[in-house]
Amino acid sequence: MADCVPCGKSVLTYVALDDSNGAEHRVCVHCDTPIAENLKWVSPGELEQAGYYFGPPPVEGEKGGCSTGCGSCSVKKN
Ligand SMILES: [Zn+2]
Repeated sequence: MADCVPCGKSVLTYVALDDSNGAEHRVCVHCDTPIAENLKWVSPGELEQAGYYFGPPPVEGEKGGCSTGCGSCSVKKN
């Protein structure tokens, strides 16, 4: 991550190729501003604190919620 001045916060960066000479440089994922310094390598946990997901979001919801015996969901015959 790096501080992006136009975005006003720490942002993810990615490597892009310069159109003119093909050199690799890092740019902001949000506004494509070239970022040349103050790169910070962070852990996935720190990324999530900054509002980014690392990997798929956690799955919410469970199957078989009534197996805990809520009393109203048992199968009744007749
Ligand atoms: Zn930016």
